[in-house]
Amino acid sequence: MKTLKIAIQKSGRLNEKSVEILKNCGLSFENYKSSLISTVTNFPLEILFLRDDDIPEYVQDGIADLGIVGENVIVETGANVSYLQKLGFGKCSLKIAVKNDSDIDTVAKLDGKVIATSYPVILEKYLKANQVNAQIRNISGSVEIGPGLGLSDAIFDIVSTGGTLKNNGLKPFTSVMNSEAVLVSTPGLEFNTEVVEIVQRIQSVLRART
Ligand code: ATP
Ligand code: ZN
Repeated sequence: MKTLKIAIQKSGRLNEKSVEILKNCGLSFENYKSSLISTVTNFPLEILFLRDDDIPEYVQDGIADLGIVGENVIVETGANVSYLQKLGFGKCSLKIAVKNDSDIDTVAKLDGKVIATSYPVILEKYLKANQVNAQIRNISGSVEIGPGLGLSDAIFDIVSTGGTLKNNGLKPFTSVMNSEAVLVSTPGLEFNTEVVEIVQRIQSVLRART
C-alpha cells in the first residue's frame, strides 16, 4: 500500500483546525512543532507541515497527494487540484475596501485608481470581468495601512470580522469571493482507496458536528 502524504499549514489560522479534523478522523500522529513531517501510526499517511501558499502547487505536482488549504490560495496560485470536500473552517471573504470618507462606492469608480493587495490574480480577474482599469499594487502583508499612508486608494484583502478594516478607518463596499478551508487532491487521485477512506472519515466528522 502506498503511503499518502497530506500537506497542511505549519502555523497560522488553519493549522489548529487542520490538525483537529485529522485527529477526529481517528488518525494518530505527533504534532511536532519543530518537525516538518509527521508519520501517522495507524494509517498509511504522512503529514507535511508547510506554508499555506506552497500547498496548492505541492498537491498539483503530486509531491503531496492531499492538502488542506483556503480556497482563496488555490484560486490565487491557479493550481490544478481536485476539490474533495469543503471543511467548514477558515471562513472569510475577500473584499475591496476604501477609507471611510472615500467617495468610491462602486466598482466602476475604481477606474484609474490604485488598489493594494496580496491577491493580485483574483483581483485582476475581477477587475477585468467588470471592465475596470485600475493599478494593482502587490504587497505581501499589512495592506490595510495603504490608504492611510496615501499608498493606495483602495485595498483588496481578506476580511473575516471586519475588525482590522475598522481599526484602520476602512469600509468594505464589495465582496469578490467567499472562501473556506477545503480538502484537495492531486488530479486523478479522487478514487484512490485510501483517499476515499480519508474523505469518508472527514465527512462523518463533519456530519457529527451539525
Ligand atoms: P503562512 O505562514 O502559512 O503563509 P499566512 O500568514 O499566509 O500563513 P494565515 O493568516 O494563517 O496565512 O491565513 C491562512 C488562511 O486562513 C487564509 O488564506 C484564509 O483562507 C483563511 N482566513 C480566514 N480568516 C482569515 C482572516 N481574518 N485573515 C486572514 N486569513 C483568514
Ligand atoms: Zn501564506
